[in-house]
Amino acid sequence: MTVAEPRALFIDHAGVLGGAELSLLDVAGAFGARAEVVLLADGPFRAALEARGITVSVLPLGALQQVKKSTRLPSPAALADTIRVARRVAKHVNTHTVLCANSQKAFVVALAAGLIARRPVVWYLRDILAPPHFSRTNITAAVTLANLRAARIIANSHATADAFVAAGGSKALVRVVHNGIDPAPFDAIDDRAAAAAREQLGIPAHDYLVAMFGRFHEWKGQQVLLDALAGLPDVHALIVGAPLFGEEAFESALKAQASRLGLDGRVHFLGFRSDVPLLMRAADVVVHASVYPEPFGRVIVEGMLAGRPVIAARAGGVIEIVDDGDTGVLVPPGDASALARAIGALRSDPAGAAAMAERGRIHARRSFSLQAMVRGVSDALAGLE
Ligand code: UDP
Repeated sequence: MTVAEPRALFIDHAGVLGGAELSLLDVAGAFGARAEVVLLADGPFRAALEARGITVSVLPLGALQQVKKSTRLPSPAALADTIRVARRVAKHVNTHTVLCANSQKAFVVALAAGLIARRPVVWYLRDILAPPHFSRTNITAAVTLANLRAARIIANSHATADAFVAAGGSKALVRVVHNGIDPAPFDAIDDRAAAAAREQLGIPAHDYLVAMFGRFHEWKGQQVLLDALAGLPDVHALIVGAPLFGEEAFESALKAQASRLGLDGRVHFLGFRSDVPLLMRAADVVVHASVYPEPFGRVIVEGMLAGRPVIAARAGGVIEIVDDGDTGVLVPPGDASALARAIGALRSDPAGAAAMAERGRIHARRSFSLQAMVRGVSDALAGLE
């Protein structure tokens, strides 16, 4: 370690394990003693950080936690809460050279904490700042604050960076650092383990198995996969994930949709799982079906690392991961018929599907390495005033 290497206090508003949190887990894990994490909510993310030996503190938000990205203006109570928590975060700053916010709420808290503790603040932007997820007011406020006070923006894709700039964000602030994913857990699973997992799930040996991974939310497109399955007899699907941010009604609607379409024996809702590499290797195809532009899409790179052909929705950061027809298949977002056709085409050409999966695996290892991500983040956090 050289003296120029940054010492970072990372701040995340979530206690659950979403993609942003899993990515930060890898970054903070690689930073080791150079990183400390403050979470603004308790949950399994804390245990996961602690298991990696990372120092973590939980400073829960009150009223600010209730503010939704789609709401127009935060209440006075939320603003007071921001100051209260920021003061507590500032007390955690000691030898840290920089504060790095891993989410939008964390960015607001980090800005105030950075002013108090006199440290530069970086926003690790992992969202495409655009409607319908974010209200216009929210976008304008976030971009204005970023232009005025952020020392840098780390964007997880060019799509994320472009949306920030299109919303008025300063291009000079932005560095793009793609997610990197460790291939080791995928390499560790052999065909026997994958076959055993498949058997345990009760999937008949000759049936085709597609798998989709992600938190339950309408924009992730689980409903599109269910519609596609209706026209694909003998195809089973694993739907892996859970409602992480209060989308229980959507989960119930999905299960009702599966029953209505007569898919009950073929669709397997597995809930949130921590054995994603095994489940990907147990499947024949990994499907991503987001109906809105995905900022990055870790699950696509993971499907490639698992050596499975991937089908993904053509929008946002996904285009930076998949070269259509070469390293995977792209379909229009929200188009169940196109998705069904893509699944059918891979099924009818196992040799072509295997060759594509192998090209995807090589591409993912080369282009989305953990080392490149950690170096990119470290460089982006270094040398700031
Ligand atoms: N994931 C998981 N268990 C699940 C479902 C998903 O560990 O049951 C992981 C998945 O492997 C991926 C992450 O959650 O690493 C989702 O990241 P992605 O970028 O695809 O979506 P995000 O959650 O950031 O919207």
